[in-house]
Amino acid sequence: MRKLIQGIVDFRENLQPSYIQTFERLALGQKPDALFVACSDSRVVPNLFASTEPGDLFVIRNVGNLIAPCDEHGETHEDYAEAAAIEYSMLQLGVSNIIICGHSECGATLAALDEDRKLSPNLATWLRNLKPSVARLRSGEVLDPNLSLHNQLSQINVLQQLEHLTSHPTVRAAIEAGKLKLHAWWFNIAKVEVEVFDPTIKRFRPIDREIAERMMQKTEMKHFHGNNCKNKHDSHTDFMSWKPNLESFSTRKTAHVFAPSQAVTETNLS
Ligand SMILES: [Zn+2]
Repeated sequence: MRKLIQGIVDFRENLQPSYIQTFERLALGQKPDALFVACSDSRVVPNLFASTEPGDLFVIRNVGNLIAPCDEHGETHEDYAEAAAIEYSMLQLGVSNIIICGHSECGATLAALDEDRKLSPNLATWLRNLKPSVARLRSGEVLDPNLSLHNQLSQINVLQQLEHLTSHPTVRAAIEAGKLKLHAWWFNIAKVEVEVFDPTIKRFRPIDREIAERMMQKTEMKHFHGNNCKNKHDSHTDFMSWKPNLESFSTRKTAHVFAPSQAVTETNLS
């Protein structure tokens, strides 16, 4: 705690002046590029490994980077914080990208695999959102056999939580309208490496310069094609983004309609 308090004084005395203009602008409103879903783990540092600035990311952090799925009425049960942040970021802030970023050595995956471990009641209830990922692992799904079991689970869990995300009507409507891209990332702590899920090889791979340039190039192609692009979900328009299987949620009702116009007309709440 002493380090934290001293850090505030250090920032105030050494860095605050250089941030005044940035935060004066940000005080008028936020327009983040993406919704970033990550674990609460102290070692996961998106502002560092993605070189993001204040105002760039709208963030959900919780134990295990979990998103509770919605029911057939488009409502989540008990886990309202994540659902509210998803709806707010999309309907009020108009984010067009959602990233779920898992990480290596995640305590949530270790706990989920240790059936003998006695968890506190709230944590045990929360980790039920990880159970479908455990089931996928137990059924033999493998993304990278070289990883330890809990890290394999962590990678599968990123894809599973994207499935959960797709059950949210706001997300689903935006995907169907071609206004939202989903991304599966994974932070390897020991290697200090951010990886992206590559659907073509069904594995995570480091975002090096080559991959990054291809990702950015495809994004620009998407903008070039605009509304004239016949197939917005075609792989050439969204390289490395995660492709949802919307059919699996085809019976879900749309309770909230994605309305990007609200993003610029409604007052920011945070
Ligand atoms: Zn974690």
